[in-house]
Amino acid sequence: MLFLYNTLAHKKQKFEPIKAKAVSMYACGPTVYSAPHIGNFRAYLEQDILRRTLQHEGYKVTHVVNITDVGHLVGDANLGEDKVKLAAEREHKSARAVADFYTGEFTKDLEQLNILTPSVMPKATDHIKEMLSLIEALDKKGYLYKVPTGIYFDTSKFKEYGKLAKMTFEKLNKYLKAGARVERAAGLKNITDFAVWRFRKRESADDMVWDSKWGEGFPGWHIECSAMSMKYLGETFDIHCGGIDHIPIHHTNEIAQSEAATGKKFVNYWVHNNFLTVDGGKMAKSVGNIYTISQLVEKGYSPIAVRYLLISAHYRKKINFTLEALSNSANTLNGIYSFLQRLSSLESSAPLDKEFKMLAEEAHSKFFKDLNNDLNLPAALSAMHNLITETNRKMGHDLLSKADAKLVLEMMLELDSILGLQFEKNSKQDKKEIKGKIEKLIEERENARKAKDFKKSDEIRELLKNKYKIVIEDTKDGIRWHKEV
Ligand SMILES: [Zn+2]
Repeated sequence: MLFLYNTLAHKKQKFEPIKAKAVSMYACGPTVYSAPHIGNFRAYLEQDILRRTLQHEGYKVTHVVNITDVGHLVGDANLGEDKVKLAAEREHKSARAVADFYTGEFTKDLEQLNILTPSVMPKATDHIKEMLSLIEALDKKGYLYKVPTGIYFDTSKFKEYGKLAKMTFEKLNKYLKAGARVERAAGLKNITDFAVWRFRKRESADDMVWDSKWGEGFPGWHIECSAMSMKYLGETFDIHCGGIDHIPIHHTNEIAQSEAATGKKFVNYWVHNNFLTVDGGKMAKSVGNIYTISQLVEKGYSPIAVRYLLISAHYRKKINFTLEALSNSANTLNGIYSFLQRLSSLESSAPLDKEFKMLAEEAHSKFFKDLNNDLNLPAALSAMHNLITETNRKMGHDLLSKADAKLVLEMMLELDSILGLQFEKNSKQDKKEIKGKIEKLIEERENARKAKDFKKSDEIRELLKNKYKIVIEDTKDGIRWHKEV
């Protein structure tokens, strides 16, 4: 039984899907105008954990993540340039080429982070027809009005406007007025009103501009999510995910226009993840602390260590990313991998231990209990680490039976169906690969010694000893090494 914090209800609730064995889930996808950074992936990792948890509970999950390749304006404001169009001008490419390139980067990163591929990844530009028919429905019901820059949704006409943010229409108006980033388009009735269609004349054949009965232009960002989510998941679906920054504007507007058009409840559960900070502050180009997955991989970090770090905090709490924390995560992961390797190759004649089996089963059920309690991964992970510590202790005293080792290994692989930390792949030692790594390190150490970099050569000696149990001796005849027994 899964409990989730539902932003719409402002409390934790038992999850009950519309259909018995299936779950429909939507997440606002990337705007493909620049390389996605680790902050973006915090959301997709949280959603991946949610999806894996639902699948473990036996649900078939239809997971939709859209690709915003048009319509998202700079600063999310009512005025300004389209982000993809601006990037195209900057990179001297067509908007299509820019969008395709960064969509490719996004899917590559999803794969590197071992995030399950979404069931559907619809592009906004492939769904203009659906958006126009949603706009048409709103127009017929009298929710829209025209100003010189586009067609706007009159938020004062939707009586539950602001319910997600737990704000009244008046309160949200005040909130937006206080925010400097929202500019007021000429003719706007309320500051909370937003464009569903923006006018722009076609400048070239490949311009992202479409004809409509209201005039040439392109869709507003919010209408894209409503049109694509309802197309693939129905007018009412189970879960909508996204970052908490989307609550007061983007998601509030998605609800307003979807429910105004259909007269039905749009989404039952809204699940929002908190921010990621870097070195204690906001990520910013000017500070130079925006990390992408490929940059971290280039620096020698494993994307799975990034995954581990980002899922180790509760999704509703802020997480602070530092390179030091990433190194710690990599070390913890390596510790788990070598634990799994020892477990899978254990030779033991120790007898079965009923008490140990009970302890292992308790840890296993605590993991899933914590997970089902609003995805409390920090608690679930600590149950896993307790199991590792206890198992290690028994192994260290030669008291772990082969059958108990097998049981723990099976449990660990089951936990990894949620965690996605590649336990199975790393539970077997590839002897050839390891031999290659050791030989490379010995060569590096020799080069460091020749260059009189004794600090580095000592570090490599330590690494070989700690990680691979390799002892190095420098003799007159050259280097000798053997495995520590
Ligand atoms: Zn969205």
